[in-house]
Amino acid sequence: MSVKNVVGVVVDRMAREVDRVFHYTAPDEMYKKMQIGLSVLVPFGRGDNVLEGYIVELPEETECKELKEVRAILSEEPLFDGKMLEVCRHMQDTCFCTLASAIKAITPPGRGVRRNCVNDKIINGSRLAVSNDEAFSILENIRAKAPKQAKIIELLLQNDFVANADIRLITGAGQGAIKALEQKGIICSCEIEVFRKPVDFSKIKRTQPFTPTKEQKIAIKSVTETLDAGKNQTFLLHGVTGSGKTEVFLQCIETVIKKGKSAIVLVPEIALTPQTVERFVGRFGKRIAIIHSRLSLGERHDEYKRILSGEVDVVVGVRSAIFAPLKNLGLIVMDEEHETSYKAENVPAYHARDIALLRAKQHNIPLILASATPCMESYYRAQTGEYKLLELTARANENDMPDVEIVDLRRELIEGNRSVLSGRLKEEIEKNLKNGEQSILFLNRRGFSTFVSCRNCGYVVKCEHCNVSMTYHKNKNYLTCHYCGYTVKNYETCPECGSKYIKHFGTGTQRVEEEVKELFPDASVIRMDVDTTSGKSSHQQILDKFANEKIDILIGTQMVAKGLDFPDVTLVGVLAADMSLNLDDFRAGERTFDLVTQVCGRAGRGNKLGRAVIQTYQPESNVLLQAKEQDYKAFYNEEIMLRRSLNYPPYCDIISMVLMGNNEQALSAYAARISNTLKMEFLNHKISAEVIGPGPCSLSRINNKYRWRILIKCKASKEIRTILRQLAQSHDKRKESKWISLLTEQNPNSMM
Ligand code: ADP
Ligand code: ZN
Ligand code: ZN
Repeated sequence: MSVKNVVGVVVDRMAREVDRVFHYTAPDEMYKKMQIGLSVLVPFGRGDNVLEGYIVELPEETECKELKEVRAILSEEPLFDGKMLEVCRHMQDTCFCTLASAIKAITPPGRGVRRNCVNDKIINGSRLAVSNDEAFSILENIRAKAPKQAKIIELLLQNDFVANADIRLITGAGQGAIKALEQKGIICSCEIEVFRKPVDFSKIKRTQPFTPTKEQKIAIKSVTETLDAGKNQTFLLHGVTGSGKTEVFLQCIETVIKKGKSAIVLVPEIALTPQTVERFVGRFGKRIAIIHSRLSLGERHDEYKRILSGEVDVVVGVRSAIFAPLKNLGLIVMDEEHETSYKAENVPAYHARDIALLRAKQHNIPLILASATPCMESYYRAQTGEYKLLELTARANENDMPDVEIVDLRRELIEGNRSVLSGRLKEEIEKNLKNGEQSILFLNRRGFSTFVSCRNCGYVVKCEHCNVSMTYHKNKNYLTCHYCGYTVKNYETCPECGSKYIKHFGTGTQRVEEEVKELFPDASVIRMDVDTTSGKSSHQQILDKFANEKIDILIGTQMVAKGLDFPDVTLVGVLAADMSLNLDDFRAGERTFDLVTQVCGRAGRGNKLGRAVIQTYQPESNVLLQAKEQDYKAFYNEEIMLRRSLNYPPYCDIISMVLMGNNEQALSAYAARISNTLKMEFLNHKISAEVIGPGPCSLSRINNKYRWRILIKCKASKEIRTILRQLAQSHDKRKESKWISLLTEQNPNSMM
């Protein structure tokens, strides 16, 4: 017997077990309205609980017994079309997530909610006070008992912070539920700075395009020719900061708009400043939508509506803007394409570049990836001809690059200087204080992992199998490689030079602040790191204070490295480049090159020439020398050889499986079992893949949960991912899944 009016529905549940399409039937009248992307209410499971779901298939008929009936259609308009559904399926495959969570990611939260206009600049909000892993396990525990609280946790898992008014509207929970979670220490309150309108559009002066330079002309011509031909092509626009890359996008977008099409411009979180927005509004006027993570959910919803209604030609936004439902998409631009913030950290852990490549292909349009320091993968693809390389070698504005000096900390030690500041850096700071110019001191600190190095000769203990720095474990005084688990006793003397000055490395910003204040008692000093910026808006407050009150010295971590633009900063000091050079990650070189380039770019943005002082125990490091010279190609050529010889990306993909649980012994045994199963599966399927580990993660313990990891080096394919997905599904059915959680990720950002 066959059933008519059949629709395929994905239910809005995150469990891996229900991650498939369920068939329902619809009454004739309702069926006429059915489209891909509608949200519906359906009865589900034995108790026929009514759940929200999404229409993902319209098979019309099916050979089937009896089907349950769709109860109602929730949305008048579809939330996504067939192309976006394909994007979701791609995420389901490559991010190892459920289709429902992929759909959640592409549709703005709080849709369908009517909300009051918020005029306040600061509003009360909440964010998670526990780690994501912990939040997930709490979620499972309270889902049945306190469904409203569970909804709040879900919402905060998907968003860094949400206004309390939005929480109440979207989840239907009262203030009581928010308070209850706060008292349990699961969430905490925070003040949110809302940029209702990031800039006042009406006040911005219209600007005219520059006459392009010769190199800009070539770049613009290549892109517009592709536009005219209606072809899909990825361009890598490589040029130092200030070489006029933005001007290239602006002129390409102009052509796109003339053709009656639209464009998406992705910028990293930190770069979405009023200045950036002004440049786009100045050129294109009001038909622009801005997607900023500091918008409240309600505002994001408003922008989404404008985009859907066709009022917008250009969307400028952070990572999630890649899902913008623009009609007639004509061009995608990704500025600073190497930035790690383009990779989502929460589930689904998608990379915006990956989605951009797919969307550009679907629409047969060009994609421009732009950067001064492209990621190795992108530059490699430009070398092989997969991407077309466009280069801007000269600066469009007249500013000179800062003077960069590398200081050898080993010599400082010999000369008896144990301060965190070298003699040279001290002199330069003094000079700046005398001239009333500002300085930034930068300490790259990831906080968790520490490596061991010799202060006398610069030797760093690395794993002999993986060529990454080994991590020091203080409690038991040993060193371990958290790629492969190789472990050795800590060294007492340097194996290279025999010196006793072989120690783990780790200085906090707080210590730096104390020392700087002691050395320069009359200078004003401000510190910016995770401790001083725990509130969401304090980040901006510190920067405003630094600029407005003309604070002499800003000391900071990663946060100060990028995107800041203070014309009065003429000196940047990198206190220990070693922290970045010896990241326990194969991308250490790439990250250092980018970091030093960016940090140095902070100095001398006004009319005065900038200076940068880079302190290190490894002054002979090629990466530092290449960064000092801003010689990306030299860096790339050397790094790519290393990647090839050790088989790291772009020559392979890395898939990580992280297992978490509170009994370390049982966890490691279970991880070993999983690793063996994997090896067997790969063998049976004749797949060549290297399974490394299990070994403890670099962050080996979070909130009393141990973390172990298995790494798979392979050419990621659908077949491999299917095996991994099946493994995860069978894990969910085992009793161990009650206390061991398993997370799979392809090409993660860091190897934490
Ligand atoms: P990037 O995006 O590579 O950092 P921008 O596009 O921001 O570079 O350009 C840097 C500066 O040079 C900007 O102030 C811009 O207005 C100016 N500029 C860009 N292209 C030209 C040009 N063709 N002629 C004159 N000035 C230009
Ligand atoms: Zn030594
Ligand atoms: Zn190793």
